[in-house]
Amino acid sequence: MTVERNVVCTFCGCLCDDINLTIEDDRIVKVEKACGNGRGLFEGYNPDPIMPKVMGRDTSFQEAVKEASRILRSARYPLIYGLSSTSSEAQRMTVQLAELIGASIDSTSSVCHGPTGLAMQAVGEPTCTLGEIKNRADLLVFWGCNPLVTHSRHFARYSAMPKGRFIPEGRRDRKVVVVDVRRSETAKSADMYLQIKQGCDFEVLLALKALIMGRTLDAVEVGGIPAEVLQQLAVEMKSCRYGMIFFGMGLTMTNGRDLNVRGVLSLVRELNDHTRFSALPMRGHGNVTGADQVMSWLCGYPFAVNYSRGYPRYGPGEYTAVDLLCSGEADCMLVIASDPAAHFPAPAVKHMKTIPVIAIDPAESLTAAGASVYFPTAMYGIDCEGTAYRMDGVALRLKAPLKRKRPSDEEVLQALIEGVKSC
Ligand code: SF4
Repeated sequence: MTVERNVVCTFCGCLCDDINLTIEDDRIVKVEKACGNGRGLFEGYNPDPIMPKVMGRDTSFQEAVKEASRILRSARYPLIYGLSSTSSEAQRMTVQLAELIGASIDSTSSVCHGPTGLAMQAVGEPTCTLGEIKNRADLLVFWGCNPLVTHSRHFARYSAMPKGRFIPEGRRDRKVVVVDVRRSETAKSADMYLQIKQGCDFEVLLALKALIMGRTLDAVEVGGIPAEVLQQLAVEMKSCRYGMIFFGMGLTMTNGRDLNVRGVLSLVRELNDHTRFSALPMRGHGNVTGADQVMSWLCGYPFAVNYSRGYPRYGPGEYTAVDLLCSGEADCMLVIASDPAAHFPAPAVKHMKTIPVIAIDPAESLTAAGASVYFPTAMYGIDCEGTAYRMDGVALRLKAPLKRKRPSDEEVLQALIEGVKSC
């Protein structure tokens, strides 16, 4: 029996790097410090080899590569999607493959924080690390997110609870504000909860910015929030020493989308005339931040990139996976570590069923089960090393506490690149 210490959990964007795993007979038998989601990731993992499949039948790795390369090479409009639950090394190789076959490449960002990318390109990114927040932030605003449920250790490890260099009393030295349409678990533990009307975030952000700039509001309420409560929040924001806004899909996937995020970012810009303030998106998948980073370095854009003309073109709404499937344009799809068949809208899934799909995934997901070619791979951070980016953009090296018995995503992608070249 061995104990592997300080392993990184890749379930969510927190990438907690203090997990202890007890390993016996190449199985994880005990998980310490992880939350329920993290425990499920490690405890349920079986590293045993699985045969690749072509049309549901077991086959050799070489045969599967040959068939997948043929599909990719013969497609006129290939689509590559996923990337948020794999290593940055594999993400990098995926962009190389997209360029080679002239594909559209898109990540799960397009269905979560895509609007954040658009807003950051327009306004800028007033960012900071989670370490800065732990050590300095005395005001935390959670807007349209519920970290106590979705990122269970965020409160305890990075934001509300920890004691920091300039926050010696931890939670007692911090004020927590939640803005949400319903009283979530996070809202119940906040010092101040603002119940906002569905779809009114942009108006409320604009009103807050006006108050920060010293204007007065004519209205008695904005977006369901009384003017005096907004005034109180504006005073709290201006008078804190170090403020932070975390925002989630409650802001990016409601009316206004990127305009809402622009509202947050320009509010933060305004606040920096008075005090120190930053904003961070609450990223869901373990390495979705890495997908944005790697695609930005290599293509110049974080998602929704098309290589059909040999150079990268950016087109959210046009080259995003859901749009290419709903319009019926994509004629083959390569899915890496994602399960669009379980999460995409029905018209997109309907089109997926009519085209060849190649899936690369450690788990036999719904997408993998229905794929023309399926490559079972090792799981990054469990039996495969690599790099992942935490939600604040800090890169962490992932260990491989279990022995690898399956190919990594990188190895499959490398084989596909060589296979396509030789077709
Ligand atoms: Fe894993 Fe996220 Fe839980 Fe941390 S908060 S242990 S990264 S699931």
